[in-house]
Amino acid sequence: DKGVEKSREGLLNKIGKSIAGKDKIDDATLDDLEDALISSDVGVKTTIEIIDRLEKRVARDKFITQNELQQIMREEITALLKENRPDQPAEFDADFPAKPHVIMIVGVNGVGKTTTIGKLAHLYKKAGKNVMLGAADTFRAAAVDQLKIWSERADVPIIQQGQNADPSAVAYDTVASAKSRNADVVLVDTAGRLHNKKSLMEELAKIKRVMGKVVDGAPHEILLVLDASTGQNAMQQANAFTDVVDVTGLVLTKLDGTAKGGIVIGVSNELNVPVKYIGVGEQIEDLQVFERDGFVKALFG
Ligand code: GDP
Repeated sequence: DKGVEKSREGLLNKIGKSIAGKDKIDDATLDDLEDALISSDVGVKTTIEIIDRLEKRVARDKFITQNELQQIMREEITALLKENRPDQPAEFDADFPAKPHVIMIVGVNGVGKTTTIGKLAHLYKKAGKNVMLGAADTFRAAAVDQLKIWSERADVPIIQQGQNADPSAVAYDTVASAKSRNADVVLVDTAGRLHNKKSLMEELAKIKRVMGKVVDGAPHEILLVLDASTGQNAMQQANAFTDVVDVTGLVLTKLDGTAKGGIVIGVSNELNVPVKYIGVGEQIEDLQVFERDGFVKALFG
């Protein structure tokens, strides 16, 4: 699978090392496996859950070969992901009850927020939907310019105002014109300044509120974009954002550039929010709908 080869090699390599030359799994092996999972950014809580499951299997089955262990890891991680989010949608869904369906995108600068919006616009457009973008990250002129470029690449209209315009005014405008133009999907970019949590919270809350005035229930989704290559840093950002806004789904970007894709396994378990998409490159097609079984298979074969 494109995008996770590095993580696959990283994880398999570490697992391989922890069981090399052994014909049975002992406590030391499990310790090494634990280190392998933690250093792949699976996260402490989730790693402990996986190791607990393995311990039970090992106690039952005793002897275990490398292939068997890999198979068990795959089964246990899949089961964990399923128990954790039974409601996780496995397919791309572009049929929404609301029109327009409003998606607000949040995340810290540099994680790939703008790129993700461009990729999502492309995905919805390919599904035959009328898409509109809103440039409500008005604090950085570059953010608006970048989004404009992506709107051209995806060939979808964008609503923008001057730099330092009121973000909620832009959000309002975007949803209002999407409604009047009968658009199906609206993607609204927002500011990502985490250093002032209180003002960010107020800004995001206000954006949410004004959009809800135009379309009932908007925003219908709030996607948090995280850079998977930043590991525990991304986990901290995730915690900070889920504190200030009701995130409905996660997008993990730059998986193509990291050997530590374990965060995809851990983050939804720790936050109780589903991973909806993964970013696997800089091009417009490089966004995949996250599908648990396929992902675990790509990691463990
Ligand atoms: P923003 O500040 O969060 O809006 O970030 P951008 O969308 O401008 O992206 C920052 C950088 O990350 C750009 O150079 C993008 O090309 C790059 N980027 C975004 N998503 C991905 C991805 O999935 N894989 C890779 N390799 N690069 C990405």
